[in-house]
Amino acid sequence: MDTEDLGSSMPRAGRRPEPSPAGLSDSYRLSGFRPVPSESRPRGPEMSRPRLHSPYTAYHEAGHAVAFWHHGVPFRYATLEPRIPGNAGHVYGIRLRPAVDSDGLAKEMRFAAAGDIAYGRIMRSSQVPADAPLLRRFIRAAANPEDPFLSADERNFISAALRRDAMLSVEDAGQAIGPSAWLGIWRDTEQLIRVTLWPAVYAVSNA
Ligand SMILES: [Zn+2]
Repeated sequence: MDTEDLGSSMPRAGRRPEPSPAGLSDSYRLSGFRPVPSESRPRGPEMSRPRLHSPYTAYHEAGHAVAFWHHGVPFRYATLEPRIPGNAGHVYGIRLRPAVDSDGLAKEMRFAAAGDIAYGRIMRSSQVPADAPLLRRFIRAAANPEDPFLSADERNFISAALRRDAMLSVEDAGQAIGPSAWLGIWRDTEQLIRVTLWPAVYAVSNA
């Protein structure tokens, strides 16, 4: 296979997400259009969460896939039978150009958040996480963005958030940064995935 495999993946039960060996800046540097061997572990924005034995895993991957589709990011396919040992789901062949501005980084945050949000929508239906636990989660992740106990999705979200803040603090002093701004992006993504795009997420999940 000659297309690169950058993707969102969900580790199987009993496995913790592995720390990104290359770090996110490397991941995104690799996420242009250069081919990488498809049988190797993806180096890109892997988006994963601890596997719960549940048929709803499909919703997590569908959330990522629909978010990519909505923002015009090509990918090859989403599967619940990935070639990656230890993962229960994956979106393959995501061709995500490196973000060059704060909007691009906000999109990366949305792509990372979409899996968890779709999963939460189907598992808890109408409830969304309250602000306080989400903020605590963001702050904890920001304090140690390479913590191996974070899921790849959490690492990707927080990495994009921190890079966005750094960019905005240089470029535009008036823009909100920090966890409350990240919460706003998370809530926007909830609206998109749980409401606007939910029919698409549902259709992909049940395909
Ligand atoms: Zn994910």
